[in-house]
Amino acid sequence: MAEERIIHGVVASVGTAIGKAIRTFDALFVSLNFKLRPDQVRKEVERFRASVEKSREQLKRMQAELKRKSGPESSFLIDAHLLVLQDRLFVDRIIEKIESDYINAEWAIQQVSDDLFQAYDRLNDEYLRERRGDLDDIVRRLLHNLQSKALPSFKKLSYDSILVGKVVLPSTLFELRSQRLVGLATETGSPLSHTAIMARSLEIPAIMGAPELAEVASGDLLIVDGERGVVICSPSDETLAAYKGRDRDGKKGKRKASAAVSSPSITEDQVQISLAANINFSEEVLSAVAHGCESIGLYRTEFDFFREGKQPDEESLVADYSLVLKAAKGAPVTFRTIDVGIDQRTWDGMNPNLGVRGLRFCLENTDVFKKQLRSLYRASVSGPTRILLPFVSTLDDLDAARHILEEVRGELDLRRQPYDPNIPIGVMIETPAAAQTCDLMASLVDFFCLGTNDLIQYYLVIDRSDQSVVHLYNPFHPAILRCLHQVYTLLRPTGKPITVCGEMAADPPSAAVLLGLGFTSLSVSLTAYPRIKRMIQAVSIGQLRELAGQILKMQKPKEVEQKVRATVYRT
Ligand code: PEP
Ligand code: MG
Repeated sequence: MAEERIIHGVVASVGTAIGKAIRTFDALFVSLNFKLRPDQVRKEVERFRASVEKSREQLKRMQAELKRKSGPESSFLIDAHLLVLQDRLFVDRIIEKIESDYINAEWAIQQVSDDLFQAYDRLNDEYLRERRGDLDDIVRRLLHNLQSKALPSFKKLSYDSILVGKVVLPSTLFELRSQRLVGLATETGSPLSHTAIMARSLEIPAIMGAPELAEVASGDLLIVDGERGVVICSPSDETLAAYKGRDRDGKKGKRKASAAVSSPSITEDQVQISLAANINFSEEVLSAVAHGCESIGLYRTEFDFFREGKQPDEESLVADYSLVLKAAKGAPVTFRTIDVGIDQRTWDGMNPNLGVRGLRFCLENTDVFKKQLRSLYRASVSGPTRILLPFVSTLDDLDAARHILEEVRGELDLRRQPYDPNIPIGVMIETPAAAQTCDLMASLVDFFCLGTNDLIQYYLVIDRSDQSVVHLYNPFHPAILRCLHQVYTLLRPTGKPITVCGEMAADPPSAAVLLGLGFTSLSVSLTAYPRIKRMIQAVSIGQLRELAGQILKMQKPKEVEQKVRATVYRT
């Protein structure tokens, strides 16, 4: 039996989970590694062969087209790919693996291609080493073609499972949410990533940034300890018994609405603070209402938008958004338009945080943007709706977005479709440019949301999903405090409301700093909601204002943090 082993990482979502590892192969294809029952093997080989055949047909078509367009010289590039598909060392070995190890095709492809990649890497000949790219290409094509023929049972987790991978996309977690998924453990990533945010929303205990997980295989028994920040592989009987006997409060389960939740968000010195909820998928609105949340301060719509793996049509979007608004029972819902790009980093090695993201993507893909806006306007007859634009960095982008909003309203007028013409339009302040120019944007919008997750990553130049720099990510950094103070000071004379909706608002000490700096509206995930409500009720704004004055003069993040903790936890 394997020895018990402890792997250290960082806590991305609290709680404890016990289950069998199930590896994701590639973030792009979201394929899981499964053991097969003997009676599934034949079908799996057929599935693999079908993918080989489909890949071959696609390549032949491409080759013919290349020949037609650019002559026979360039079509030889495709020959190399076709040869890989004929290579017995490749195709037959994958089939053998499926048959002898009872594993799904994706897993077999991974094992065989990993061996071949290593062999390529050892080659001295540069030309041959370059051919590695052909193999990589084919592997991706095969996986892609396999995906459309996934056995339905592969999406079914028949036992308590812990998803393990180098990277796991939030959409994968989302897709498996109603299954027996009890935990998450990833080699990379940080608590600020969207995957971590999604894990917290789903109340799935998660550990991230643990490279040693690379050695964990599907089927290994694991414990995810989201208190200590470790994953225990092959736990001994004693360890297992100890964890099983533990309080199960931290486990995935129903959220308990505590007494503090339904009570008002008023500080000790009688200052009213608005506390709204962040949600990441539509079903969460029901929990938010059950929690007695006053409003939805941030609904990240991108996860639901791409829920089916393809773009939804306008009618289904209208139906979805109307359902959300009806479920909110009159509480205003702030729909943030799709913030695409952020989670796709590993697909091509580029960092999308500095690329085509959020509003930039929407302005380049106006058909997608307009469809979402039309749907939001049409759904707005079902309840108070607010539209929030993410990742705004220039006034030009904002102008362009406003122009599109106007066009959309015009289209709906032409179609004679009813909508609320006065939907408030807001902007996320989450780039340094927006922080510096929010006063200039104020006359163009109705409200602001402060996205500290991104603002801190851009201000401190720390990739929020990179575990190697996550320890430097610090809301108490003087640069952040000054920036927040500046945003507050710039916006105050404009009278435009601002809600802080980043994770800084979800941790009592940093949330207290926000209150001290003058912010009176916060929006946090449902998991953080009770603790922030309790913090609000326990503090005095007068005291926090004084604290803010002092920390704004301090130099070191550590000193600031100590001072804040001492004040907040003393009250
Ligand atoms: C933020 O950046 O703080 C934010 C709330 O948005 P997201 O985490 O989705 O980037
Ligand atoms: Mg953001």
